[in-house]
Amino acid sequence: MKRKEFILNLLYSVVPMILIIPLSIWALSQMSKGAYDCFFVMGTSMEPYLSGSENQSTYGYSDNSDKAIDNLKRFDLVICYYPFEGQNDYEMPYNRYKPILTETATLKVKRVIGLPGDKLTIDNENFSITDKNGITENYNEENCPFKRKTPIENRKADVKKLEDNEYFVMGDNWTKNGSLDCCNPSAKATKYEVLYRENIQGVIFKLEGNCTYGPLKHCKSCKKVVDDDVKECSCGSTKFLVYNDIIEKRPYEDGPIYIK
Ligand SMILES: [Zn+2]
Repeated sequence: MKRKEFILNLLYSVVPMILIIPLSIWALSQMSKGAYDCFFVMGTSMEPYLSGSENQSTYGYSDNSDKAIDNLKRFDLVICYYPFEGQNDYEMPYNRYKPILTETATLKVKRVIGLPGDKLTIDNENFSITDKNGITENYNEENCPFKRKTPIENRKADVKKLEDNEYFVMGDNWTKNGSLDCCNPSAKATKYEVLYRENIQGVIFKLEGNCTYGPLKHCKSCKKVVDDDVKECSCGSTKFLVYNDIIEKRPYEDGPIYIK
């Protein structure tokens, strides 16, 4: 009996350790990778689904882990940079194996339309996707699984075959100048572009609500928000930056990320 109790006690103490230690290490590694980000939307490229005006900015959370990006499904929302010429997100010429962000790089939110292996045919408001198993789905205004902002004015007819690691992303705002995306990387471009996996920063998994944002004066040194007329921050710095930040319902103290 004593021996049985001893073994049971040992099991109760050892088994949780065996489970807890790897879980903690995993959780820590996820945290140090910055696995989750809080974002808020600035800009209209994802209208009508997401709002990005000063008075109504959608905010939520993204999962930046490799696992989330590996498990991307069609029509998921991703946060990404663009490798397109003229977008100033990466140093040019763009090297997809070693992309280097510029100081002016800005994150964007887009919807994943095409996954690796897909063939996409886009003809103004209608599009069809043949997946890697050869199954074709046709989407028009009525059966499109997400609501787009139309009229479509800048979606020229084109066919795109996606290779491994290539994605096709678009904003839901399909009006002229609505969304800069794989369909319309720049006014001069004649062909569709693709987004490489290396450009995807995270996958949106939760929308929390709406907040307001506006231009606020930040201390360049300690990053604190100060009043407009302050000449010297309490930390002693006299250098300031003005940029958009959440004013109300600030969901996350230490730096939400801003997406367009
Ligand atoms: Zn300061």
